[in-house]
Amino acid sequence: DMVRVIAGDDVSVGALMRPGVDPHLYKASPADVSKLNQAKVIFYNGLLLEGKMEDLFKRLATDGKAVRAVSDTVPQEKRLAPEDSEGHPDPHIWGDARLWASTVDDVVAQLSATFPDHKEDFEGRGEGYKVDLETLHRWAEKRVVEIPEDRRKLVTSHDAFAYFGKAYGLEVVGVQGISTAADPSVADRTRMVDFIKANGITAIFVESSVNKALIEQIATDADVSVGGELFSDAMGEPGDVRTVNGDSYDVGTYIGMLKHNVNAIVEALR
Ligand code: ZN
Repeated sequence: DMVRVIAGDDVSVGALMRPGVDPHLYKASPADVSKLNQAKVIFYNGLLLEGKMEDLFKRLATDGKAVRAVSDTVPQEKRLAPEDSEGHPDPHIWGDARLWASTVDDVVAQLSATFPDHKEDFEGRGEGYKVDLETLHRWAEKRVVEIPEDRRKLVTSHDAFAYFGKAYGLEVVGVQGISTAADPSVADRTRMVDFIKANGITAIFVESSVNKALIEQIATDADVSVGGELFSDAMGEPGDVRTVNGDSYDVGTYIGMLKHNVNAIVEALR
């Protein structure tokens, strides 16, 4: 979505993963490989988010293709690494709109290097987008404050919301780790039910790109409600416009996705 915004009508932008698709498990199809081979420049998130495509991206880069992981520009001190991740950084950097905005300049630079005729247009759109993301960041900060402080606890399927929680002041607990590749154990589920009960949590959340059965079962076991669906690792359907408090946004965009998540969490927890 960021590349699309910055590229505007100057460059044709295609995405491989559809709404609701889990990037941790996604494998490139032969059609994807052919699209990647034809692309002038390729952007991906990196930090092993697209774990099963990493080798392919590396190979394309070695072959001389312009391939860029947007997370490469996130400095070491801003990367979060949970204790059980063996030092591997958490890839879900877009949860923090301000951190996500910090990757805009690199996308502008890469697009400008590939399509120099449009450099000024990319720069103009990039600057505008950074302003929009900063506005989004400040809005989210204000909105989360509507939840009483002792209720600012977010329970979801996997640990996709660490950057989000740190940026907006929510304690985050996921049943799975930072990847969805391993199935949660019975002990993970029991730990979660205990955490929910001990903390008086009233609502937990399913994710659009992760199997919902696990969270629904935990909600039943802990006797809490499911507070709605969050977009963690995938945006919504393009053109799916939602309106909350008079504010309309398309959940098929990054800004709409983040607004939806914040509104859903605030409405359920406050
Ligand atoms: Zn994830």
